[in-house]
Amino acid sequence: MTVTHPDQDAPGASEIPIPVLQLRGIWKTYSTGSVEVHALRGVDLDIHAGEYVAIMGPSGSGKSTLMNVIGCLDVPTSGQYVLDGEDVARLSDNALADIRNERIGFVFQQFNLLPTQTAWRNVELPLWYGRVKASERKQRALDALARVGLAERGHHRPGELSGGQQQRVAIARALVTDPALILADEPTGNLDSVSTADVLGLLDELHAAGRTIVLITHEEDVAARAQRVVRVFDGRIAADETAGELR
Ligand code: ADP
Ligand code: MG
Repeated sequence: MTVTHPDQDAPGASEIPIPVLQLRGIWKTYSTGSVEVHALRGVDLDIHAGEYVAIMGPSGSGKSTLMNVIGCLDVPTSGQYVLDGEDVARLSDNALADIRNERIGFVFQQFNLLPTQTAWRNVELPLWYGRVKASERKQRALDALARVGLAERGHHRPGELSGGQQQRVAIARALVTDPALILADEPTGNLDSVSTADVLGLLDELHAAGRTIVLITHEEDVAARAQRVVRVFDGRIAADETAGELR
């Protein structure tokens, strides 16, 4: 989708795509007693539809804080955050929970599947929270499982699946709401090399199919699968590289 930005003054740039995610001057300050920790110090970041972006940085650099802001799990101390066209920086906890459920598909290191529920029951969960009717939930869950190559595994419980398959179920759950953004936090952190290759291959496929993916990782070889690598250092963006070029 393209729109005309009225405030765009550069000649010939009247048509620019709206970012899925736009962070402007984001600060996050934690106060612990008398000490203030500035975990994010003025982050500006645009991510457009269809981008596959890896966020990297050393321990303590602010990755988790940035992920929590991007994922609407926490609000910034100051700055502007527009997600999928909506200003979310100042929303209440309840409104943020709805935004999270509708617009973001989360994939976690620990899979976070319910062990007593079958794969399709796990996948339908975001639709259940979204109050979608039962027959539609089941069909959409089975469709999402088919999209991650697990059409035959819908009635298995997580314990009957390999680690890679469990993460595929979690990715199906992330896809089932057709979110604006897939946000993956160390998605291969608990997987062996075969399952890692499996899950990274699936993320490549989703990217090729036009999905917007933000992946947080410590591992350079995982980040290398993304088309763009954003490096965080001391609460700031220290580098932003797309396909080898620096911006
Ligand atoms: P990373 O994920 O890159 O390791 P974090 O975002 O977890 O970095 O942390 C960035 C900084 O903010 C660190 O100095 C950390 O100690 C501090 N920090 C993170 N969360 C909190 C919190 N809830 N309270 C106080 N300080 C925090
Ligand atoms: Mg962290």
